[in-house]
Amino acid sequence: MPMDLRVGDVVETKKNHPCGGNTFEVLRVGMDFRIRCTTCDKQLWIERPKLEKRVRKVSRTESDNTSGSIDK
Ligand SMILES: [Zn+2]
Repeated sequence: MPMDLRVGDVVETKKNHPCGGNTFEVLRVGMDFRIRCTTCDKQLWIERPKLEKRVRKVSRTESDNTSGSIDK
């Protein structure tokens, strides 16, 4: 079952980014994920299976989404 990852989630990975940070913000989901290192601000693409393997923890800022209409 695919991991439930959403835009805005912050994931903690087992493997550190070269900058030493290990938390990434999810910017885009799909076949590949676009994530941003929250330490050095660098953005990168990563394949879903790779990311899922590396994730240790997902923190989600629970936003009240009851209205349900988000205009992009
Ligand atoms: Zn980094």
